[in-house]
Amino acid sequence: MGLQETLATSWWRRSLSRIRRIAGNTPPDHEKSISDPQTDFSSEMPQDQIPAKHILVFEDCPICGSKARTMVNPFNKFVLFDQQPDTRSSRYHYALCHECGVVSATRRPGGPRYRWLLEHFEESLGRAAFGTRRTGKFSLSSYKLTDDMEAKLTRLASHGVFVSDHLGIGRKEYLPSLLADRFSNSVHIELIRSLLSLKTPRVLEIRSRLGSIVGSLKQTDGAEVYAMALFDNQKFLIQQVYDIPTELIDFERFHIPFPRPFDLIIANHMLTHAIHPSRFLATVHKNLSLGGHIYLYNEPDDAEILDEGKSMFNTLNPFHLQAFDEEALIRALAANGFQVKFITRHAGSFLCLAQAVEKTDNWTRIPAKQSSRRRSGYRRAYDASVIMTSGRAKERFSTVWDATVERATANGFAEKDASGRVRLIRSGRTGHHWGYAKPKIKS
Ligand SMILES: [Zn+2]
Repeated sequence: MGLQETLATSWWRRSLSRIRRIAGNTPPDHEKSISDPQTDFSSEMPQDQIPAKHILVFEDCPICGSKARTMVNPFNKFVLFDQQPDTRSSRYHYALCHECGVVSATRRPGGPRYRWLLEHFEESLGRAAFGTRRTGKFSLSSYKLTDDMEAKLTRLASHGVFVSDHLGIGRKEYLPSLLADRFSNSVHIELIRSLLSLKTPRVLEIRSRLGSIVGSLKQTDGAEVYAMALFDNQKFLIQQVYDIPTELIDFERFHIPFPRPFDLIIANHMLTHAIHPSRFLATVHKNLSLGGHIYLYNEPDDAEILDEGKSMFNTLNPFHLQAFDEEALIRALAANGFQVKFITRHAGSFLCLAQAVEKTDNWTRIPAKQSSRRRSGYRRAYDASVIMTSGRAKERFSTVWDATVERATANGFAEKDASGRVRLIRSGRTGHHWGYAKPKIKS
């Protein structure tokens, strides 16, 4: 095809999409909803079946309540697994909200179905095969705490957090993960101390890993602290090591089981995991004192999908129910009564401090142009993710494979080599994103 022809074709396409948009508000092809290829995924779970019921279906955005949305990805990470809990477990039907810009799972497990996934945490993340038990880091185990484990943890934790090498205690005799957690979370302590002037505050950490942030604030700032943990082991250790009241998180009916108000509520990787995110934020809001703060950390940036070339199937594991960029996170908080005071990216995730303000409907929606850009970004990233699949997962896309490759080739980010194999072309200034320049966004 000659250059003249290409230009004429692209001019025609653009005009056509403009006409379509004026005529019936139909989005151009590259912004359209992505539909489920409807392949029948056989599930081969021998015993221990996931409860079939309890799939929650959201008609509105679970963050801001808007109805306008575009489907951007039918699947979570289970689509890549050979073995899936059942045929519906991979289908989350992620949609991009036209008001806040957050991508969220419109179908997600609730009640016993969610608890089943949590009880099979390692398997659901792909770290172990279903039906096997992973022998990973003992202190962070997701399995139920037995009397034997409790006795062992008590013995190991008795040495405390700061176990000096010169004492000659073997690494199997104490818990090195306690100090590792202090080190990796020290960045949050630094920010909290620098950005807030807290005098003997009441602080809660939700989804505390091993108590290091609240442990440090308690020790050096005289804070009155509380913690909520994901698993029994963590709850036990936080109480044992730091003497901090700790309860488990109920994701389905999220509540804070300690007396309020708090001056600061810290939440680790919670917004992306929350089953009912706006209810989660409302609960935090209600439990903060007037002008109190929420500090979010480990909230993934969807730039990893849109700009950094990661597979969206791989990134959106079955616990990742919300995905956002920096601006969508700011809007998500604004829509729920929080004003961002500080936000930055650290190690690929967002750190964000926001203040509780009066909740109003007067927050700034995503501009139409930016929304359209985000939808086409997801469209391209979806096609790229399909092309990245292999083996059994690739077979699941057999009915849409040709069309996907054709679209990706037309969009300039895929090509066939001499042997007919499809290859992704990672282009752009950073050398990663899918054949389009990421625009600079002014705030
Ligand atoms: Zn929304």
